[in-house]
Amino acid sequence: RPIHERVLGEAVGRGATPALVDTASGRTITYGELAGMVQRLAVGLAAEGVGKGDVVALHSPNTVLFPVVFYATTTAGGTVTTLSPLATAPEIAKQLVDSGAKLLVTVSPLLAAATGATAIVREQTGRGIEVLVCDEAAGHRSVLSLGRDGRVPPHDLDPATDVAVLPYSSGTTGTPKGVMLTHRNICTNLEQLTDLHRIGPGDRIIAILPFFHIYGMAVLLNNALSRGATVYVHARFDLDAFLTSLERDRITHAYIAPPVMLVLAKHPAVAKLDLSNLKRIICAAAPLDAGLQAAVADRLGVEIGQAYGMTELSPGTHIHVDGNLDEPAACVGHLFPSTKARLVDPGTGLDAAAGEPGELWISGPQVMKGYFGRPEDTDAMVDADGWLHTGDIARVDGDGNWFIVDRVKELIKYKGYQVAPAELEAVLLNHPGIADAAVIGVYDEENNEVPKAFVVPMPGGSLNADDVMSYVAEQVAPYKKIRLVEFIEAVPKAASGKILRRQLRDREHAAR
Ligand code: ATP
Ligand code: MG
Repeated sequence: RPIHERVLGEAVGRGATPALVDTASGRTITYGELAGMVQRLAVGLAAEGVGKGDVVALHSPNTVLFPVVFYATTTAGGTVTTLSPLATAPEIAKQLVDSGAKLLVTVSPLLAAATGATAIVREQTGRGIEVLVCDEAAGHRSVLSLGRDGRVPPHDLDPATDVAVLPYSSGTTGTPKGVMLTHRNICTNLEQLTDLHRIGPGDRIIAILPFFHIYGMAVLLNNALSRGATVYVHARFDLDAFLTSLERDRITHAYIAPPVMLVLAKHPAVAKLDLSNLKRIICAAAPLDAGLQAAVADRLGVEIGQAYGMTELSPGTHIHVDGNLDEPAACVGHLFPSTKARLVDPGTGLDAAAGEPGELWISGPQVMKGYFGRPEDTDAMVDADGWLHTGDIARVDGDGNWFIVDRVKELIKYKGYQVAPAELEAVLLNHPGIADAAVIGVYDEENNEVPKAFVVPMPGGSLNADDVMSYVAEQVAPYKKIRLVEFIEAVPKAASGKILRRQLRDREHAAR
């Protein structure tokens, strides 16, 4: 089935149940309204020339209207490519050119960047792209004004091969690449999640993850709306608004990334909240330390599990199984059904011995169709037998609990050893004087690479580099010791919550 049918197939029957609530204004869209708005806009978009194979770029923070444009585009037969609301005009232009987008939908406050981007595209390619806003502010043509009654012209969409969404990978390790996810990719991934992770009518989901990123788009938005839950929309992550909403909106499920776990562990205001409705927190997108997970679980008295995935996997392959309280610390959960996984020694290309870590390879219906316009990159990622090489080191215990060690490329090569920066970051975060930290390998003549820590001290503390190094040295094997420390104001992170170690490496190169 196509994604809009999978997600909104039961929406009409859900009628007056709230589907989306804007947490700032209280504006609510019911399931019945959502279904109607999507249908009307789909007719309008089709009249505007959007059909099978056409790409609509959606450049917006989280709003209650985001899903209207999203599902209307696929209903018209088109493909949605999503952009970060923080993207600059040149970044937007790059994605518009790369994806061949026909239309750019933004919001009024972001119009300057959007029109700047289309000007760049016109200069580079001679092609004009219309910009529409997705709100009711006066002054610019709104995509909502296209909505009309009627029927979408038939468009023989093939869910198995037609691309529903073209999100771009986070660009953590290189240039963001357009990831072609078919309707079947997305829908089967929702299906695979069903028995492991249950939400349904009456559940209230907080949406602080950005909808433009696959985690917020699929695990949160598609999943919640397909099951009749209510989504409490936050335009951006604002700490006070987040904490207020958790309590006031009686949130039952929170999908977050590790930086928010830090807040939940360390912020004094959290202790005063009534979170008695909160059933479950799922943390994904980047490594989560076991100590931090336990600290938050204790403090909030709530079940916390992880999930693992990547844009190229629609996005999920592993998740904490509901109610599994025996799960070991730091585990990303169990493998999804109808998904195969292998652990391969990146050095030899052979399967790792039982219990040993290796590069995680995945095969299953959620493996992407490919990178858009980049067949060589696709071949480098997905081999001839259909195994996607994740680039992440993982291991699995005898009970089917999986653990992500770190990315292959991020491992620090100290002499003949390999050190996972994520492990050292976790140790650092347990220090009471450290608010945040990131670790990278820096070149060292004698040892090849040595671990260097970038540390954000707690305000008002008096931490020095020796304290940091000796604290870590007490807890890890000698080859893993931190050998350099630099104090910084903030750890650079992507909107999806990942540490941008690449930026730290660039800055290190510049300093040398
Ligand atoms: P790019 O591919 O452009 O460099 P990216 O890999 O960060 O960017 P995403 O697809 O958003 O783009 O992220 C997928 C990656 O996130 C995984 O390969 C993995 O490294 C990391 N990740 C996701 N979930 C977890 C988790 N629970 N624990 C550890 N790492 C995770
Ligand atoms: Mg990646």
